[in-house]
Amino acid sequence: MDHISTDNSQQFASDNYSGICPEAWEAMAEANHGHATAYGDDPWTARASNLFRDFFETECEVFFAFNGTAANSMALASLCQSYHSVICASSAHVETDECGAPEFFSNGSKLLTAQTIDGKMTPESIRALATSRGDIHFPKSKAVTITQSTETGRVYSVDEVRALSATCRDLKLHLHMDGARFSNAMASAGCTPAEMTWKSGVEVLCFGGTKNGMAVGEAIVFFDQALAQDFDYRCKQAGQLASKMRFLTSPWIGMIQSGAWLRNAQHANAMAQRLSGAIEGVPHASIMFPVEANAVFLVASEDHLEQLRTRGWRFYTFIGGGARFMFAWDTDPARVDQLANDIREIMG
Ligand SMILES: *Cc1c(COP(=O)(O)O)cnc(C)c1O
Repeated sequence: MDHISTDNSQQFASDNYSGICPEAWEAMAEANHGHATAYGDDPWTARASNLFRDFFETECEVFFAFNGTAANSMALASLCQSYHSVICASSAHVETDECGAPEFFSNGSKLLTAQTIDGKMTPESIRALATSRGDIHFPKSKAVTITQSTETGRVYSVDEVRALSATCRDLKLHLHMDGARFSNAMASAGCTPAEMTWKSGVEVLCFGGTKNGMAVGEAIVFFDQALAQDFDYRCKQAGQLASKMRFLTSPWIGMIQSGAWLRNAQHANAMAQRLSGAIEGVPHASIMFPVEANAVFLVASEDHLEQLRTRGWRFYTFIGGGARFMFAWDTDPARVDQLANDIREIMG
């Protein structure tokens, strides 16, 4: 194969810039022997599904999709009719980064967005939206989606999730969790996956494998099995049923059995702490949101941010205007230190 040259100096614009972690890679290689039945009727998929049941300590239904946009969209579509609405934060990925896929997959269920200070929904924000209209001219509220950890790098505590789900129950709304960075939240939260989800009233979780260190793949976990009815058909119709499913599911076995799911997230979170700690007190830089997962949002003048770009750093500023730095399982601490030094030199 021709050599394709890459720039190996790490960038932190997205945690998806990282590659595949060894545990996921090896599990895929192990599954790559001989033939196996296609479309998920294979021993790796059965094993992965059972591991999720152990992981969450309950008889959940598990499905696998290629990416988070599809996972979220199919999950929300399964909770709603076309005339329903889904309540989310205005900064939610489903609203800002899925190109209308949740509305498309649900044949028109409308997203109702709550303004938040830091990306976190509150019981009050849900109640205000859900009760704002009760007439036939407005879509009927049916579900709430929260992101764990949030797009702003914050983590809902178990108590906060419980308070949200109590509000949902009261208002007869389903509760979905976008867990594209569920592992990062778990590394920070100090509770069990079961406590963070079904024991706190979450009915469906989209559990992200990609940002956690896999090549590709998200698991859709239904804690309320009745809600999973016919979901396999929905996956197939959406073009999300992998024929060589074992390569989507075997990495989960590697990730969960080896503990890499948590180690990877702990490392990523630690790298966010490393950066935020190193730039604390820099006169012309401030940190926008409490650093609780693997994100740091830097607030600085446009001139200073441009100087950072000139030094070769890449980052996005589409969330709240801050410069976002995301860390991954393979983040090199020395590279974080370089970034911190550049920030200190420019903004000190
Ligand atoms: C990355 C991400 C997703 C999934 O995005 P895809 O690119 O579709 O895999 C979903 N939700 C959040 C909050 C994300 O950050």
